[in-house]
Amino acid sequence: MKTFLEEVNEQINGVPIQRCYHCRKCTAGCPMAVAMEHNPNRIIKMIQMGRREEVLASATIWLCVSCETCITRCPNEVDIARMMDVLRQMAIEKGIGAKEKNVLRFHEAFLANIRMGGRINEPALMVHYKLKSGDLFSDMVMGIDMFRKGKLSLISPRTKDMQSVRRIFEKTGPV
Ligand code: SF4
Ligand code: SF4
Repeated sequence: MKTFLEEVNEQINGVPIQRCYHCRKCTAGCPMAVAMEHNPNRIIKMIQMGRREEVLASATIWLCVSCETCITRCPNEVDIARMMDVLRQMAIEKGIGAKEKNVLRFHEAFLANIRMGGRINEPALMVHYKLKSGDLFSDMVMGIDMFRKGKLSLISPRTKDMQSVRRIFEKTGPV
């Protein structure tokens, strides 16, 4: 049976996370570290220690915004953003989900939006998320303001190569 570390590395399919020597450059640059219960390099350590349940139930993996600052700063090219993606997917597959339910709903709405057009259509994303979460009216004033200032467009072009998008979703399984 594979260890948690082996499973995570297999899914990352890149630089093995044990290359990390805990210099903490990733954590020092992470814009979300201040809100995380375990900082990014600590998550790596926990994976190495086999603390699967704790890692997958942690809010940290859902607070990562995939900005990739960590991999840009890492001297060993450890792809923490990808690792967080893998951990989120594992949490979904195990039925653990996210501590904050609306984070998971946003995640699902985001992926459904990508699946439809290959790229984000912000108004459609917001409608989908609002319907899923039941949180219909918060941010409405801000949304109207953004629309008036041209920051939100009703139409966003679809990706031309939708076949590739479909293949990615088929290969990566359910969201
Ligand atoms: S920057 Fe890279 S090597 Fe340093 S702690 Fe983060 S993941 Fe590990
Ligand atoms: S990708 Fe995630 S873990 Fe890395 S710096 Fe951005 S928010 Fe932090």
